[in-house]
Amino acid sequence: MRHPPIELVRGELRVSGTPLQLDARRRAECAFVSHAHGDHIGRHDRTIATAATLALMNHRLGEPRRRRHAEHLPAEYRKPFGLGELTLELFPAGHVLGSAQLRVTLRDGRSLGYTGDLCTDTVQAAEPAEVMPCDALVIESTFGLPRYVFPPKAETLARVKDFVDGALSAGVTPVLYAYALGKSQEILAFLSGAGYAVRVHPTVHAIDKIYEAHGVALPGVRPLDPEAEPAGEVVVVPQQLAWSPAMRGVKRRRTAVLTGWALDGERSFRGVDAAFPLSDHADHPSLVAYAKATGASRVFTVHGYTDDLAASLRRVGIRAEPLREQRQLELL
Ligand SMILES: [Zn+2]
Repeated sequence: MRHPPIELVRGELRVSGTPLQLDARRRAECAFVSHAHGDHIGRHDRTIATAATLALMNHRLGEPRRRRHAEHLPAEYRKPFGLGELTLELFPAGHVLGSAQLRVTLRDGRSLGYTGDLCTDTVQAAEPAEVMPCDALVIESTFGLPRYVFPPKAETLARVKDFVDGALSAGVTPVLYAYALGKSQEILAFLSGAGYAVRVHPTVHAIDKIYEAHGVALPGVRPLDPEAEPAGEVVVVPQQLAWSPAMRGVKRRRTAVLTGWALDGERSFRGVDAAFPLSDHADHPSLVAYAKATGASRVFTVHGYTDDLAASLRRVGIRAEPLREQRQLELL
C-alpha cells in the first residue's frame, strides 16, 4: 500500500477515504466500536459492533434516543458484510466479552486489520482471540515495551488463589480490586469455577447480568449486602469504590489489585496488600508474535508504547511505524 490505509486525525482513527472511524470518542457518522471500555465508545449516528458490545455500551451510555436516528448495526464474528465499497469482517479479540478486531477489505482486494484492545492469552469470560490475516495491520501497544512479559496466566491465578485462601483462613475478607468490565468477570469465572462464594459491588453485578445474558454463567456470585459482613466469601470491587457505601459491611479486609501493571512492582500500588499481573491485554512477546501471525507486510502501532513496539517489530523484519497525526492539510 503506497499511502497509509488509515489516518489519525485529531486523535481519531479513520479508514482513509471513507467515513468509517474506529473507536471514535467524538460523535461519528459511522464508527466501528471494538469493545465497550470507556475510552473506545461514543454516541455515533451508525455504530458497528458485536451484540454484546452494543449491550454493554447501552448499559454505559443509555439506550440511543430514537429522535437522533442513532442506528446500531450488530455484527457477528467471521460473517463478512458490505459497507459501501468496503467488506467488513469481525474477529474475536479476547479482551472482554464481545471485543472484536475488524478487517476492512478494499474494493481492490487489499485488507486492513485493526486489533482494538487485544489479549491472545486463554480467557474464561470472553471469546478467545483469533488471528486476523491481513495485508496491513493497526495494532495496540499498551504493553509494547520489551520488559512487559507476563508470567503464565495459570501461575498468576494460582497466586491469587493462595492469597484468597490465606485471607480466608486468617478470618479476614479477601478483597480483589478489578476493573468493572472484563477483569472482574474474568476473575469471577475463575473463582466461581473453583467453588468460591463471591460478593461483588453493584456496578460489577450489573455488568455480570449482561455477561450472563450472553452465555457467561457466573454461579455463586452475589451482590454485596452493605449491612452484613461477608463470611468466608471473596469480594470483587473496582478499586475506586473500595470505600463506597456498598462496601460498608466489609470490615476486616486484605486487598489485592489485579492488573498487568503489577509488573511495574507492587510498590507502585499504595494502600494494597498485594498486586497480581492478571491482564486483559497481550504482553510484548504476544504482540510481536501476533503481528507476525497476521502476515501483514506493513504494521502501524497505536495506543501506548507505539515507538517501542514498532522498533521491536522492525527488529524481526516487519515494516512497522507508529501511526502519526495527519497535520499538513488541516492547517491550510
Ligand atoms: Zn479495553
